[in-house]
Amino acid sequence: MDTIVVTVDNTGFDYDIHSLVKAFFPECDVSVLGPDDEKDKSSSEGYPDISISFGEEEILLTIMGDKTFGHKVEISSDYDRTVIKNLLKRLIYTGLFGLTGKTLPWGTLTGIRPTKIPMQFLDDTSDEEIREYMKEVYMLSDEKLDLCIDIAKREHRILKSIDNKDSYSLYIGIPFCPTRCLYCSFTSYPIATCRDKVPGYLNALFREMDEVSKLCEGKHLNSVYIGGGTPTALEADELDRLLSKLESTFDLRNIRELTVEAGRPDSITADKLRALKKHNVTRISVNPQSMNQKTLDDIGRLHSVEMIKDVFKMARDEGFDNINMDIILGLPDEGPSEVSHTIEEIVKLSPDSLTVHSLAIKRASKMAEWIQTNGISTLNNTDETMKIASDGAYDMGMKPYYLYRQKNMSGNFENVGYAREGKEGIYNILIMEEVESIVALGAGTVTKRVFGDGRIERTDNVKDIDLYINSIDDMIERKIKLFGPR
Ligand code: SF4
Repeated sequence: MDTIVVTVDNTGFDYDIHSLVKAFFPECDVSVLGPDDEKDKSSSEGYPDISISFGEEEILLTIMGDKTFGHKVEISSDYDRTVIKNLLKRLIYTGLFGLTGKTLPWGTLTGIRPTKIPMQFLDDTSDEEIREYMKEVYMLSDEKLDLCIDIAKREHRILKSIDNKDSYSLYIGIPFCPTRCLYCSFTSYPIATCRDKVPGYLNALFREMDEVSKLCEGKHLNSVYIGGGTPTALEADELDRLLSKLESTFDLRNIRELTVEAGRPDSITADKLRALKKHNVTRISVNPQSMNQKTLDDIGRLHSVEMIKDVFKMARDEGFDNINMDIILGLPDEGPSEVSHTIEEIVKLSPDSLTVHSLAIKRASKMAEWIQTNGISTLNNTDETMKIASDGAYDMGMKPYYLYRQKNMSGNFENVGYAREGKEGIYNILIMEEVESIVALGAGTVTKRVFGDGRIERTDNVKDIDLYINSIDDMIERKIKLFGPR
């Protein structure tokens, strides 16, 4: 892979510089080096060398390629770090736009939660003022501005209806799946070869539930999300035990939502759906990712398009009235006609919410290897495919209600959750806006404690199942430390 080198004499903004330069040159590795770094400071042939230097009153950006040109921005010692960071990113954006002619729909925003910005102003600022501010500081396109503010307002309304004083949500991770999808970077073990690990895993998980529930006594539980992996990779009786344990350990009387990610259609059976229904699961996901058989085969999902339809209808027949479907844009060889086909088929099924992901290429996935062999050119997400998916969601009477971005997303786009009124995934909003603690149990999960002043601290559980089982005391201890008295 080609490399672009950025040399900078202030090491406080490396991450921001890296993310923004990478957004302009997704095909390259970006190397941000300090003045004392002894690595080679030349970019690959055909790419510019970039340098950034901080003075007391200005930041100077120099781009050295076929031609050399510079840009600068004035700063003052009164400015705090955030202001300087935003000015620096604007400077880089302007310079790289001048070099490439490319604009980024999300402007200089590289964080994963763009809606947090308008959210903080909604109570006392007009939409117009928020638009002006975000356009000036972050250089977003009009379309992304509209989307971001629209979603922030919807989230804001929903959050106002949720009691998040001394509250929390619970995440339970079940790290087993029928097979591993090509793009997967989650903690996931193929159930067929790891079935013997399930009893030990559930025992450890139940112990973690027992101990952690004591830390949550007296707090209000808002939502529970059982994800993974694919929880329905478990057998019906195991799901029954898991949900019975949940009911007997945590106070579920006032929860707004209990979601189980059924996910892979090849893991769903009528008896598993009945087990979920028996325990009052309110929301499930049945995730096609694509309704094109060739794509499903290419990405390693061992199920047919027909199976997706059958399982969806089975879930409706079992009484589920809040079913989400996930799709991914930018999958191998999928362009507008394939995405249109997927959307047409989903519209016929008429789920209650649709989550549209842009493919994110993670180093931990087999996709990174696949690209080495097949090249990246067949992985295309575009404005056109995003619009096809969004139009489909609106045609089903849905509105966008949550949004997040990831690193290395196809087309530098976003993931958007659309839902019919009243069918929004509450947990998704709570985790995105970070307004309450998320207590996460199971291998590979991350717990976040949100303090009253908005400060956030995290602790994670190990990913390896055997290690999780063997070090369960340590996993519990980490949470006791995080939630214990300060
Ligand atoms: S279903 Fe989800 S968690 Fe399981 S392998 Fe596929 S992407 Fe990974």
